[in-house]
Amino acid sequence: MAMRNEATCIGCGCTDSHACQTLQGVRTIACFWLAVDRDLRKGVCSQCSSELQRFLAGDRAPRKIVRPLLNRDQRTWRRLA
Ligand SMILES: [Zn+2]
Ligand SMILES: [Zn+2]
Repeated sequence: MAMRNEATCIGCGCTDSHACQTLQGVRTIACFWLAVDRDLRKGVCSQCSSELQRFLAGDRAPRKIVRPLLNRDQRTWRRLA
């Protein structure tokens, strides 16, 4: 059942009803909110602690997609090499 004011993680996009799962030993555990803003429905889950500092500083924007940036860096690096 979806919660009212369901929040979305600014790091990975998980939500209250779709928590990300982490393998810990032999068990799978669901993430939890390190910080959550129910008014803006944004949060930082336990898998995204690297986002916590900027969230607490007031940044509620979703993280930029990492993969294309890495690819672009690799292309640049290859061209320079
Ligand atoms: Zn997350
Ligand atoms: Zn999560």
